[in-house]
Amino acid sequence: MDPGETCANCGAVLGGEYCHACGQKRFVASDRRFGHLLRQFLASATDLDGRIWRTLRALLLRPGLLSREYMEGRRAGWISPVSLFLAVSVVYFLAPLHGGDFALQFMQQVSGRVRALAASPDERLSAEQLAGTGQAHTRFTERWVDARVRARDAAARQASNGAAGYGYRDYRNAYDAKADEVSKALVILHVPLAALVLAVLFARQRRYFAEHFVVALHYFAFALASLLIVIQMRALLRFSLPAAWLPPEATYDWTMRVLLPVYAVLALRRSYAVGWGAAIAAAAAMLAVIVAANLYVYRAVQFAVTFALT
Ligand SMILES: [Zn+2]
Repeated sequence: MDPGETCANCGAVLGGEYCHACGQKRFVASDRRFGHLLRQFLASATDLDGRIWRTLRALLLRPGLLSREYMEGRRAGWISPVSLFLAVSVVYFLAPLHGGDFALQFMQQVSGRVRALAASPDERLSAEQLAGTGQAHTRFTERWVDARVRARDAAARQASNGAAGYGYRDYRNAYDAKADEVSKALVILHVPLAALVLAVLFARQRRYFAEHFVVALHYFAFALASLLIVIQMRALLRFSLPAAWLPPEATYDWTMRVLLPVYAVLALRRSYAVGWGAAIAAAAAMLAVIVAANLYVYRAVQFAVTFALT
């Protein structure tokens, strides 16, 4: 390199292979060739590829490592927490997944009274389902369903001169067609609440809110990724084992219910570099807030948004 050589991009005097002002690599004659284009393509593909797998491996197998690296400023070797969460969310969004603890269907969002009205003729509802009061928001929101079904019924009868009506079952079908997508898109609602409780619990570490938010993002990225893996395992077992050898359906829910708290303890312990006692207490508090947020905020918003869209 000649002394006094300047950056082709911004004109700053170069002190090495990369410009200190704009970051562009020193421009050399061979950068004009086609081979450069090819090398660049391969490098970006393998670099991104390498980082994606490294980051995913760390997320799944080394709880808390990504958050710790982020807090300590070692960031270039990993996919950023926001990109990681978005990437996992996209796969989660596209996965043929419904029901479970996140995606509630119409029948899980209403009381026994409406369930009885919306059940199909061959559907047997248990006494428990018929007596149920639904979710925390149900007693406020159920009248919306009543009013909508009544209005649509009146409109349908008028349009058909009384030949055809609109019932709770019709509304249930419309609702369920949208419910999965809405609930998947809203999973991120849990993240700020989890971050808030971490900010309170670890206030003495004097961190920025964004750092707690990153810990929460990583946690939910893990939750979605592990849910996807468990669902795939289930599909694989169903495909490869005779029905008699299949584990009971509840096994998969329980796998998640054990995995998520264990991961929370390990992740908080490493992220915040605290002892087991503090990690277990913080994980319990964080999960309690996540469950409360799920029951009282997420489910209500999920219902309201799905209702608005149907
Ligand atoms: Zn430059």
